[in-house]
Amino acid sequence: MVTVMELYRLLPGTNCKKCGESTCMAFAVALLSRKKNIPECIPILLENFKKQKEKLELLLLPSAGAEETGMIIHPELCTGCGNCVVACPVDVANDPRGAAVGCAPTNDKVIFKVKDGKVVALNIKECRRFGKNRVLCYACIDPCPAGAIEFV
Ligand code: SF4
Ligand code: SF4
Ligand code: SF4
Repeated sequence: MVTVMELYRLLPGTNCKKCGESTCMAFAVALLSRKKNIPECIPILLENFKKQKEKLELLLLPSAGAEETGMIIHPELCTGCGNCVVACPVDVANDPRGAAVGCAPTNDKVIFKVKDGKVVALNIKECRRFGKNRVLCYACIDPCPAGAIEFV
C-alpha cells in the first residue's frame, strides 16, 4: 500500500498552500485519504513537475476491484469468520442490539455479510470512507485474521 511519505516526496515541497492545505505533507495525507485530487496542487501542473505528477497518478491509481472507498476484499483469503461484520461501526450503529450480529445480521444497513463462507460488501455507500464526509475508518481491517480486507 502506498504511504504518505511516498506521496509527499513527489510533491513540490514549497508549502505554498495553493491546494488549500497548510503544508505539502497535509496535502499528501489528504491525497492518500482521497479527500483531495492531484490537480488541486496548482504547481504540480507545471511542465517541470510532469514526471512527479505521472508518478503520483500511478501510485494513486485505484487497484482493480476497489470500490469508491478504496476497499478491496480478497475472497481467496477470507475464511468467513464474520469478524468484520461485527466490527464495522456502521453495523453496530444501526443495530440496537449492538455488535452481536455476527455472521447472520438481520439489519439491511450492514456493509458486510457472509455468504457461502465468504464475506461480501453489500451497502458500500454506507461505509464511513465513502463520499464527501469520509473518515479513515480501519475497524474492519484490524480484526480480520486473514488480511482479506485492504484499502488502497
Ligand atoms: S499546492 Fe502543492 S506545493 Fe503548494 S502546499 Fe499544496 S501540495 Fe504543496
Ligand atoms: S471502513 Fe469502517 S465503515 Fe467502512 S466497512 Fe470498514 S469498518 Fe465499516
Ligand atoms: S474478518 Fe476477514 S476473514 Fe473474517 S469474514 Fe471478514 S474478511 Fe473474511
